[in-house]
Amino acid sequence: TSPDLDTDARVRANDRGHVFHSWSAQALIDPLPVAGGEGATFWDYAGNSYLDFSSQLVNLNLGHQHPDLVAAIQRQAGELATIQPAMANDVRGELARRIAEVAPEGMSKVFFTNGGADANENAVRMARLVTGKRKVLAMYRSYHGNTSTAITLTGDPRRWANEPADASVVHFFGPYAYRSAFHSASEEEETARALEHLEQTIILEGASTIGAIILETVVGTNGVLVPPPGYLPGVRALCDKYGIVYIADEVMVGFGRIGEWFAVDAFDVVPDLITFAKGVNSGYVPLGGVVISDAIAAHFDTVAFPGGLTYSGHPLACAPGVATFEVFERDGILERVRDLGERVVEPRLRAMAERHPSVGEVRGRGLFWAIELVRDRETREPLVPFNAAGPAAAPMTAFAAACKKAGLWPFTHFNRVHVAPPLVITEEELVRGLDIIDEALTVADEAAAS
Ligand code: PLP
Repeated sequence: TSPDLDTDARVRANDRGHVFHSWSAQALIDPLPVAGGEGATFWDYAGNSYLDFSSQLVNLNLGHQHPDLVAAIQRQAGELATIQPAMANDVRGELARRIAEVAPEGMSKVFFTNGGADANENAVRMARLVTGKRKVLAMYRSYHGNTSTAITLTGDPRRWANEPADASVVHFFGPYAYRSAFHSASEEEETARALEHLEQTIILEGASTIGAIILETVVGTNGVLVPPPGYLPGVRALCDKYGIVYIADEVMVGFGRIGEWFAVDAFDVVPDLITFAKGVNSGYVPLGGVVISDAIAAHFDTVAFPGGLTYSGHPLACAPGVATFEVFERDGILERVRDLGERVVEPRLRAMAERHPSVGEVRGRGLFWAIELVRDRETREPLVPFNAAGPAAAPMTAFAAACKKAGLWPFTHFNRVHVAPPLVITEEELVRGLDIIDEALTVADEAAAS
């Protein structure tokens, strides 16, 4: 597209003058004005386009401007733009039915929210009401959202400035073989020791005080940490043993990111509650929710659930959700994600790990991968320190700049690069994007050697 520098200047001026941005020191940011997007690509007003290897905030599973999703929103807007949640609505009911159909057996009800954080808030609320126990265990290295309980559940630095919003949250270590908190030598040991640690935490905190354990099925922003075999079934067993509700946060990994409707399906486990958002409708209109086990749903058959939102199950959000199911089925999206992950992404990332001394580990599944960058492969010292910002983060900033210059918008977090493109990315685009990352890794290699 041809540059439109007048619009660029106007968008920048309005943004800088009046938009107060998330997570940022307002005077230190320079948000990119985006003019449009299609599929796995978006472009600015200055004539640059970017392959979106971040799917925005890992929500854009069906890519920019998917015609089926856009048409579904337009159709719904023409029919009935909104209706409050106490009434029954066609697309709301249809989406709930479709979600229940692909959820694990015995989970047939859905409570809709506006996004992921409030899905987690309400899942925790349900767990507390059903068990009569208030405490919640959550992992270090996790993100669960930015409302009061959800940010307290979060096990990363975004929690620090918000404490203590909810005093009854306790953090524990999940499995992370590459940087094991348990000095394990194998995945089996990591599973066993992480479960032993969790059980000790339950016992020492008091099982009679713990209503829920919440964990991301594959940890997302904090590292694409794929649970080792046996870990999630072990968590399920501990929840059963101690009368604790198991909440699976699938806000980032649900709806196809790892090649499953719900990621729990890849790990042989059935939680009590699953929270979702993002990929349910690619974030075209804000939507999240909680999938509820029949046992928990039954608790609220005759006792009122004390929670609600004006926009719960908003028709303009549910319509592209229903369309998402149609597209996934028609276009074989889950199969495509598994195939591209195994055949294209994994071998290329493994080859990069061989070639680039700054790559400590690559890991992932489907179209969700992390490249963990280190100064030294032996010591595994991270390329930049935990929570690095400003000059301390310079090597990662330089890596990201090299990607952007070559036309790729990367997802970076601490010392990691994540590969999380839209699930509709073409194979040619995927290979092109991976080649750009490969080339940009020379910047990281140089930083590691300096
Ligand atoms: N849970 C996980 C795993 C997430 O990745 C996110 C967002 O990144 C959230 C919850 C919060 O979702 P939202 O930003 O829609 O509130």
